[in-house]
Amino acid sequence: MTLSFPLTQNPAPATDEAREAILANPGFGKTFTDHMVTATWTAGEGWHDGGVVPFGPLQLSPAAAVLHYAQEVFEGLKAYRHADGSVWCFRPEANAARMQRSCRRLALPELSTEDFIGSLKALVSADEAWVPAAGTGETSLYLRPFMFASEAFLGVRPANEVTYSVIASPAGAYFSGGLKPVNLWISTDYARAGDGGTGAAKCGGNYASSLAGQLEGNEHGCDQAVFLDSSTHTYIEELGGMNLFLVYQDGRIVTPEITGTILEGITRDSILGIATELGLTPEERRIPIQEWKDGAASGDIVEVFACGTAAVVTPVGELRWDGGSVNHRTSATDDKVAVAIRNQLLDVQYGRGEDKHGWMTRL
Ligand code: PMP
Repeated sequence: MTLSFPLTQNPAPATDEAREAILANPGFGKTFTDHMVTATWTAGEGWHDGGVVPFGPLQLSPAAAVLHYAQEVFEGLKAYRHADGSVWCFRPEANAARMQRSCRRLALPELSTEDFIGSLKALVSADEAWVPAAGTGETSLYLRPFMFASEAFLGVRPANEVTYSVIASPAGAYFSGGLKPVNLWISTDYARAGDGGTGAAKCGGNYASSLAGQLEGNEHGCDQAVFLDSSTHTYIEELGGMNLFLVYQDGRIVTPEITGTILEGITRDSILGIATELGLTPEERRIPIQEWKDGAASGDIVEVFACGTAAVVTPVGELRWDGGSVNHRTSATDDKVAVAIRNQLLDVQYGRGEDKHGWMTRL
């Protein structure tokens, strides 16, 4: 049965002045729209009580299982305003499918693709004024669907009561003054995920466990950490919140293959899908970290970039590790491949280019 998300009888819109002040300089993830979606799942009854209510604190027992055992998953995607004023999402059915896979891994109930997209439509139609205007750079409304064990129970078993919610946050241009490269630290003391673990699920625990590696990277002057496979510390996996691509002189763009310990990024998959249109040869395989170090030093690897919904494509500057470093930046570096891929994706997302793959859904 389809879940419905009716708008509250008591909507709570911000004043035009308050909203415009935030939209003038939204940053990322720090301000939220007027409303949020909520729905409840209970064992035996399934999903019920969907709705769009004023954004505000949740009522949660201190014994809610999520606070103790981290039974939680989430998603992240954006709503884009096109020049004609319409609002669109990029591949939301892929986010719905990934959330369903995450739910299976975390023993949470699945939400159908129809209900997932229905919840996004309901929130965006209530808070449409929060979707930044077209032509204001790469601004968007970031959508954050999430689901967690809200049952008040301290036993370790899948919860019998689960809450689903969607919140939205206006997002400014990630790079306002041109692409800014990130420096990466190779984390060898900490792994993000192991075989049979939750690395391929988008669950909060993965992010909590990536923070110590990120802090270690920050202490070494890096923005983020690169995680390696946990059993051999030999192969590249991904960053705490982005996938990686290595660009070779001969036009190959290579990304770590999906092993069950890497999050299957929708940006990663889309880049693999458009690579040949840009004259590039995509490749998915295991990549030894030594190949990256050697290739960067010899010039065989000409660019490295990270990718994900928030920044789309971010060039990598320096790669550092305990005892050494390589820098991808030379005076000739122009991020040619990263920029071409980035523009191609942005053109589709903002409705400026042809949507050949049918990736856009109108909200
Ligand atoms: N890896 C991790 C660990 C992430 O959190 C994300 C962001 N969702 C990505 C990769 C990129 O995924 P996507 O392209 O779907 O945003």
